Amino acid sequence: MPAARMLSDSGLTMRDCDPTLTFPVCELFASIQGEGTWSGRPMLFIRFSGCPLACSWCDEPLHRQPQRAQSMTVAALLAQLRQTAPNLNAIVLTGGEPLAVNGLQPLINRLKQEGFWLAMESSGVGGALPEAIDWLTLSPKTALPESVYQAANEIKYVVDANPDAALLAEIDRRSREHAAVWLQPMARGKRVDADAVARCFDLVMNSGGRLRLSLQLHKYIGVL
Ligand code: SF4
Repeated sequence: MPAARMLSDSGLTMRDCDPTLTFPVCELFASIQGEGTWSGRPMLFIRFSGCPLACSWCDEPLHRQPQRAQSMTVAALLAQLRQTAPNLNAIVLTGGEPLAVNGLQPLINRLKQEGFWLAMESSGVGGALPEAIDWLTLSPKTALPESVYQAANEIKYVVDANPDAALLAEIDRRSREHAAVWLQPMARGKRVDADAVARCFDLVMNSGGRLRLSLQLHKYIGVL
């Protein structure tokens, strides 16, 4: 393959991160994780641009604006991570869709070499799951192979006020198979949808303890 030849010609292996490779980043910031198991934990967030899906209710529209994407080398990313929050060692790779990022595995390898704990939020679409991720949050939007569900540390379903029967059946089945299944009320941008919150609350309360409620804490306290 041409790409592999180029890597070996330059002395790099597949585990190295080519210093000339650039990554499309639309945001890099520090905040609390507002969702799921790690809610309340301060972390660094790298939000990549681009996603192969186009959910009508996507509440992260920045990833769709190519003009917002900065092309950053791994050195530039590391410098900005250290400048943004020198004392934080946990990173969330999010998007957009991290799986669709060219060179994701070498980037992960490099970040691990630097001692970071890495979480990734993904729809499971866009590429193979990487190795060496410490925490995978799967937010399914389409049918996925079972292996993707099995690799997830937690599964998060985004639910509006009127989820259809197929989605409810899927959530019920997954909640019987997986230890950490979250319902997250759908939001419109930064606006919380009170009806979706009420519906999720109801579903969680009637799940026999198998579902959990993820409330996007950052939106309630008005931070990124
Ligand atoms: S998968 Fe996520 S990032 Fe992609 S369009 Fe859907 S909600 Fe937005």
